[in-house]
Amino acid sequence: MVVAGIPQTAGLAYALIAVPIVALFWYKGKMTRIVAFLFLIMSLCLGFLIFSPMAPYQLQMAMIGSGPVPGNPLPFVIGLVVIFMALTFVAGRIFCAQLCPIGAVQELFYTNPDQTTNAAQKKIIMVIRLTFFIAMLAAGLLISVALLRFFGIKEFFYLDFNAPSFTIFVILIAVSLFFYRPFCRLFCPFGALLSLAAAKSLFKIRRTAACIKCGTCEQVCPTAEAGQFDAKMECYLCGRCTRACPAKGALLYSRKKRQSDNEDYR
Ligand code: SF4
Ligand code: SF4
Repeated sequence: MVVAGIPQTAGLAYALIAVPIVALFWYKGKMTRIVAFLFLIMSLCLGFLIFSPMAPYQLQMAMIGSGPVPGNPLPFVIGLVVIFMALTFVAGRIFCAQLCPIGAVQELFYTNPDQTTNAAQKKIIMVIRLTFFIAMLAAGLLISVALLRFFGIKEFFYLDFNAPSFTIFVILIAVSLFFYRPFCRLFCPFGALLSLAAAKSLFKIRRTAACIKCGTCEQVCPTAEAGQFDAKMECYLCGRCTRACPAKGALLYSRKKRQSDNEDYR
C-alpha cells in the first residue's frame, strides 16, 4: 500500500505545518469533532501512503529498522526531536493527538465511553511507561535502536499480512477499543519525551472562571488529565472534556487562565 514515489519528507512537512494549524483551530474554538476526525483520517492516510509522519522519520527509520538512514542520522534525530519537543512545549501534544498515524488509528478505534483512569491507575501507567522507556533506552544503546520493529508498526502500515509481527500491532489496536491509546501511553518512546515538554506547555486546555466545578470533564477524560491542576502531560487533546462540559467557555485552550469569552468549544 505504501507508495514508493512519495518522499517521506512530505510527512515531516505535513507534521510541521499542521501543528500550528491544529493549534489555531483549538485556540479559535473551532476544533469540532468533524475537524478532529478529518485530521485523524488525513494522518492515517499518510501512514498508509508514505509510512510517515510517526516521528521525525529518521528516528522512526532507525527505530523500526526501516532500512538505511540517510547520512549520519544522529544530527537529524536530535535536531528533529528538539524541534518537536519545542513545538510541544508551545502547543501541547498536538502531534500525538491528531498528526501521528499510530495515535490516529488508536484514537479512531477507541469507542469505550466508560473507560476512565483514576489516580492510582495513572501512577501505574506512568511507572510502566518509565520502566519501558528506560529499558528501551538501555537496549537501544547496548543492542540496537531498531527496537520498535518488534511492534509490527511497519508491517501494519505496509499491510504485510504475512509477517508474524503484523499481529502485534493489530492486537494493540484491538486493545485500544477499550483501553485508550495503549501504545501511546505505555510504549511510545517519542511520546514519553513529548509528554515531558507537554507538562510545561504554554498552551493547553485550562479552566476559566465559568467553571461550575461539576466534575464532568474529569469523569469523561480517558487519561485522568482534566483536573484543574493536572499538568496535561498525557492530554491527547481528544476534546472529550470540552464537549462534555456543561458550562460554556469553562474550558479553553489558552496560554494562561482567562475569563470565559463564550467561544464555542464543542
Ligand atoms: S466539566 Fe466544565 S464546568 Fe464541570 S468541572 Fe469541568 S470545566 Fe468545570
Ligand atoms: S478529555 Fe480533555 S484533558 Fe482528557 S485527554 Fe481529552 S482533551 Fe485532554
